[in-house]
Amino acid sequence: MKEIKLITFDLDDTLWDNVPTITRAEVDTRKWIEDKVGKIEWGGFNDFLKLREDLIKEDPVIEWDISKLRKEIFRKKLAHVEPLTLRNELVDEAFSIFISKRHEIELFNGVEEALRVLSKKYILGVLTNGNADVYRFKFGKYFNFAISSLEAKNSKPNRAHFDVALNKVDNITFDQILHIGDHQINDILFAYNLGIDTLWFNNNNAEWVQDFEKPAEFNSWNLLPEIIKNKYE
Ligand SMILES: [Mg+2]
Repeated sequence: MKEIKLITFDLDDTLWDNVPTITRAEVDTRKWIEDKVGKIEWGGFNDFLKLREDLIKEDPVIEWDISKLRKEIFRKKLAHVEPLTLRNELVDEAFSIFISKRHEIELFNGVEEALRVLSKKYILGVLTNGNADVYRFKFGKYFNFAISSLEAKNSKPNRAHFDVALNKVDNITFDQILHIGDHQINDILFAYNLGIDTLWFNNNNAEWVQDFEKPAEFNSWNLLPEIIKNKYE
C-alpha cells in the first residue's frame, strides 16, 4: 500500500460549484462598469478567445496570469474612456469588485469537515489554475500551501504546480502525493502523467472519456475521509 503524506486539491468545481459564482461575478462587474461608462459590447465566447490570444501575443504572462488577463480585457473594453488615469482607475476598481465577488462561494456539503479530518493526518495543499485565494476563508487554515498558475507560471495539466509543491514540503516524492480534483485533464491527467495517485470528484455523473484507466471517484465530500482511509491507512 502506498504511503500518502500530501494531499493536493483543485478548488473550482471541486470544493464549490464555480459556475454560479463566476457568472454572478461577471454579471455584477459588467453592470458596475456600464453604470459608470454606458453600454459596452462584451462579445461572446469566441470574441473572448480571440481577445485572449491577442493579449497573450502582446504579453505572454497573460497565458497563466488570469487576473492580468481579466484586467487587460477590461482595459480593452474601456479603450474609449479618457483620460487614461480615469480608465486605469475604472479597471482597478472593476477588478477588485470582480475578485471580491469571485470569493462569494458556497462549499459543497462536507468539505470543511473532510478537510478538518484529513488535516490531522496529512499535509494539505491547493493546486489551482484559478485566482481564488483559500486564505480569504476560515477553511484556509487547513492548507499548508496554495499554488496558483500565477505562482507556478504555468497552468495545469503542465507539471509546474507539482514541481513547486515539491519545494513546499520537506522530503516528499510524487509517490507520496494524492491529488483530488474534478477535471479529467487538468486534474487527473495532470497527476497521472507523473505517476501521482488521484481521486476524481465526479458529482454530476460525468462519463470518463480519457484513454487511460479511470481512477477511483467520489461524489460526496462526506465520503472522502473514509475513502482515503480505506485506500491508504
Ligand atoms: Mg476544477
